[in-house]
Amino acid sequence: METIVTREQISERLYERGIVPTPQRLDVAEVILARPQHLSADQIIAQMRRRGSRVSKATVYNTLNLFCERGLLRTVEVDPTRMFYDSTIEPHHHFFDVETGELVDIPLEGVDVALAQPLPEGKELVGVDVVIRVRRADERAK
Ligand SMILES: [Zn+2]
Repeated sequence: METIVTREQISERLYERGIVPTPQRLDVAEVILARPQHLSADQIIAQMRRRGSRVSKATVYNTLNLFCERGLLRTVEVDPTRMFYDSTIEPHHHFFDVETGELVDIPLEGVDVALAQPLPEGKELVGVDVVIRVRRADERAK
């Protein structure tokens, strides 16, 4: 994914997806769509506050949902209490560091997913998202 630098370029990306680039939406987009990254809603709001944006939390959440609906963002659910917004929308997998909370991309071909049974009757595959949980290796155990 190319790195977006200007507000005008971000504005164009929103228009392309049929989203009117209001100042509030641009504030959110400037944080999360600026480069390939994974951020929680709280992290996005914190970065917006640092930039001086006063957009309400509810508007930020609504905007993030809208961006997901229109295919500008995807979510990565690490566990039921932690969701991240991912600005890389192409299919890929993730390493999740359970100690630091960091998500790292794994290219699609980096995980070999073999289903050992057929899909349920009458169902088709929509996608497979793998989150591999890791932590710093315990050096003493070696
Ligand atoms: Zn990712």
